[in-house]
Amino acid sequence: MDYEYSAFRRETDVHNRCCGGWVWCIKDICGVICAILTWLLILYAEFVVMMVMLLPSPYPVYSTINILIFQTFAFLAFASHLRAMFTDPGAVPKGNATKEMIQQMGFREGQVIFKCPKCCSIKPERAHHCSVCQRCIRKMDHHCPWVNNCVGENNQKYFVLFTFYIAMISVHALFLSFNQFIMCVRHEWKECSSYSPPATVVLLLFLVLEALLFAIFTSVMLGTQLQAIWNDETGIEQLKKEEARWVKKSRWKSIQAVFGRFSLAWFSPFTRPPPKTKLESYLYSV
Ligand SMILES: [Zn+2]
Ligand SMILES: [Zn+2]
Repeated sequence: MDYEYSAFRRETDVHNRCCGGWVWCIKDICGVICAILTWLLILYAEFVVMMVMLLPSPYPVYSTINILIFQTFAFLAFASHLRAMFTDPGAVPKGNATKEMIQQMGFREGQVIFKCPKCCSIKPERAHHCSVCQRCIRKMDHHCPWVNNCVGENNQKYFVLFTFYIAMISVHALFLSFNQFIMCVRHEWKECSSYSPPATVVLLLFLVLEALLFAIFTSVMLGTQLQAIWNDETGIEQLKKEEARWVKKSRWKSIQAVFGRFSLAWFSPFTRPPPKTKLESYLYSV
């Protein structure tokens, strides 16, 4: 049965928020270090791709096209990362499982309500408690230290885009490094880079290792995420092998719930995922 879930006033709910409660951010030192490391790894790839390979390249058409492609994907990867990190993944208001709130929400006495013992909130269906965020998160998939946030109902699109664009820049960096090696060997390491041959080799090797590692890691993550969306089942639900108590959406509906109607906006980290209908956001099955 569905019950009205009256909106808990956001201004009183400043947990995990900064900038006067406007921005969602998790104060977890391990997550902050991982997120900064992600930016540094993107910066390193930027440096090698631009300063070692493309800017000193003797082929202006080749370098212009590749600069455009690389910079577009790198910018979209960075923007998706920020959006995944600073978007509330779907936190359930903390401490709303009080007698008054339960009465206000229209629950009747004797009805079964799932209450989270850790954050004292009324747990909507498919919500799980995250020990890092210290909150119950709607449709929580997993807590990802690389984006220092949970992946849940409201930010899954940004997370999927982040893995997609990182996979793209990694594959592109591998392609560029391969071309660069061939070119340097052909030119017998003369005028193939503005750095000395040993420095160029070391810089390229580190980039190849980084790109290979992240191409594999993000592709696997992207595949897992798309499979979870396709099956309308979160990572946690898959792990627990829970019997689905929720009504499973059709595949197309499940994809649309995360990305919206099919358009170019699917690939943009600047458009929000579709807003939940009033019924979906305020009514919870218990
Ligand atoms: Zn909880
Ligand atoms: Zn979390």
